[in-house]
Amino acid sequence: MNNTAFASLPLAPTLLANLESLGYHEMTPIQAQTLPVALEGRDLIAQAKTGSGKTAAFGISILSKLNPTWFAIQALVMCPTRELADQVANELRRLARFADNIKVLTLCGGAPMRPQIASLEHGAHIVVGTPGRIRDHLGRGTINLATVQTLVLDEADRMVDMGFQEEIAGIVSACPARRQTLLFSATYPDDIRKVSSPFLRDPVEVSAEVQH
Ligand code: ADP
Ligand code: MG
Repeated sequence: MNNTAFASLPLAPTLLANLESLGYHEMTPIQAQTLPVALEGRDLIAQAKTGSGKTAAFGISILSKLNPTWFAIQALVMCPTRELADQVANELRRLARFADNIKVLTLCGGAPMRPQIASLEHGAHIVVGTPGRIRDHLGRGTINLATVQTLVLDEADRMVDMGFQEEIAGIVSACPARRQTLLFSATYPDDIRKVSSPFLRDPVEVSAEVQH
């Protein structure tokens, strides 16, 4: 078995079968570099260009650890925009098809609050959203992040560019100290390491291509 086979990872057979049915026959380079580390529970800073499969890199790790019978927010994914949050949520739903009851909820600005609050009251396993709106829910006490096991900062470079540091800091502090944090970025400016260092515990750094 080569080391880009999903079957080389300690994943449930049902999850592996779903990846196969999605046409994911082998890991992309960033997935091959991050998934073994993420599945071990280590924190991660990963950089790879757009289109390299970063969503499944964190998505498979989240889903592999998720307990579907525990109806609580076990993973929180922050994205810079509503469009990206919707894309990530859709990919997570496809990846989650191996189980029939994993609920993925998106929380983005520009959408009315009331239905989001109703959805939060109903519950979800995974929340994907933009920092502003998630922070807003925290301020209103309509979201509880105390059960988060995995925190993902997707497109962290763009979130920093957009000035979301303060919101992110507030959200991170509402998550348990004992959690796994995975940071993904298309570029890898020094800024990212600096901004994220308070959130990450002894992170493994991975880059899918050499940066010049
Ligand atoms: P990124 O976040 O790095 O920009 P995405 O996670 O959006 O990339 O993935 C880009 C595309 O690649 C998506 O259409 C996704 O379904 C597909 N993809 C991801 N992983 C694999 C894989 N292992 N095999 C085949 N296609 C994949
Ligand atoms: Mg992406």
